[in-house]
Amino acid sequence: MSSLKHECAVCGVMNTPDAADLVVTGLIALQHRGHEWWGIAHEDSGCITVHKYPGLVKDSCERPEIVGITSSLAMGHDRYSTAGASTAINAQPHAITDGRLAICANGDIVPSSYESWHRKMIEVGCPPISQNDAELMLRILEHRLKQGDDIVDAIRFVQDNVIGAFSALVIFEGELIAFRDKLGMRPMVYGTANDGKVFMVASETCALNIMEADAYDYIRAGEIYVFHNDGTYDRYDNPSDKHAHCIFDVIYFSRPDSDDYGIPVCEFRKRSGAEFATDLPEGVDLIMPVPDSSNYAAIGLAQASGVPFDMGIVRSHYTGRSFTAPDQKTRKAVAKQKHTPNPYVVKGKKLVVVDDSIVRATTIRELIARLFKAGALEIHVRIVSPPVAFSCYYGIDTPRREELIAARLSIPEICQEIGATSLKFLTIEQLHSVVASFGKPPEHHCYACFTGDYPTPL
Ligand code: 5GP
Ligand code: MG
Repeated sequence: MSSLKHECAVCGVMNTPDAADLVVTGLIALQHRGHEWWGIAHEDSGCITVHKYPGLVKDSCERPEIVGITSSLAMGHDRYSTAGASTAINAQPHAITDGRLAICANGDIVPSSYESWHRKMIEVGCPPISQNDAELMLRILEHRLKQGDDIVDAIRFVQDNVIGAFSALVIFEGELIAFRDKLGMRPMVYGTANDGKVFMVASETCALNIMEADAYDYIRAGEIYVFHNDGTYDRYDNPSDKHAHCIFDVIYFSRPDSDDYGIPVCEFRKRSGAEFATDLPEGVDLIMPVPDSSNYAAIGLAQASGVPFDMGIVRSHYTGRSFTAPDQKTRKAVAKQKHTPNPYVVKGKKLVVVDDSIVRATTIRELIARLFKAGALEIHVRIVSPPVAFSCYYGIDTPRREELIAARLSIPEICQEIGATSLKFLTIEQLHSVVASFGKPPEHHCYACFTGDYPTPL
């Protein structure tokens, strides 16, 4: 059995009577990281209760069992999974039956580690009931606690022995605990309010802003934070000399108003787009994004090159999801509903079309044909990341390798296949230099989806 792919978000709050309300607010702010299921766990006098719902947070957060939560300790999760796996049992948070311990996490355990720990947990009598990685971590923690570990040692055991990406929240004995894997692959931050007494943890700073945290800090690779109900906390370190923070989180996944470990996401995207400014083709009329994921990159390119910016594609916010649709026909249909060329902007124009990434090429192929149909004269595609040629095993839902167009075709072949006038991708060197421009060491990020250089065994 292999683990299920998911990109997700976590959010936890403690020491305030509106903990659940704030968690719901945070999960809505993080909804872009997962919209298939959401869930919330809250603790009252040592007993944890979990609620899980399919779909968007806003569609079920007004239910009486959610509105009625009065606990001062709660945490929740937005889930995103591939087709077929979208069931309540795989949704998070997970709790053990006696209601003492609950977990939710963002990230994936790599397949080999998942399989071996799954087997071991069956052998020791702590069998997982779902196919979800976070539940497997819950079973390992449960087992270590039974063996006499305290919770921090049990978490250290997971950090030292489970291979993969996890930014996790745990509720245990009235405390909220946050920890990340030792390579620091997926993001997680914490904030405080009410003179430092209220603690908030979230996958991205955009959630802390909306929850009105007064201050925030990054939870770093290998760190464990134990937040107490007297308004104090303990921080434990479990350092490693290697770091592998996901670069795709900054390129695509995070919200533009988030701060990814000192990199403002919107600014990163603007600088990445600006990398294309010096060698634009002669005589182009306008620069336009494939909204919304490349809006800032296109703005950055327009500002750096002086070529006018315009919105030549209208994006509908009312379609289903194209990226994880089960088959190519559905993906194409949804992609078509999601983006529509605006003939009043593009007709008779030589366009530079900016997108953040090409994965299967469904989005861009469909758009190029329709932009020409709408009267575009030339379409120069600029992709603000290197070609995605390898699957991710750490929680970003890249499809199987054979579905990735860059795993099969060279850049000129992709250009021909999608029907663009010209096509350029950001190089790995350019990507490194954008990271370095923020004073961050490029080697502290994971680029495996572009290079195949995976930071762990798989
Ligand atoms: P493609 O259509 O080439 O398969 O995917 C690229 C498009 O999907 C881009 O517009 C990009 O913004 C978006 N995209 C890239 N990665 C992901 C992802 O992991 N999930 C979702 N939903 N969209 C993605
Ligand atoms: Mg996009």
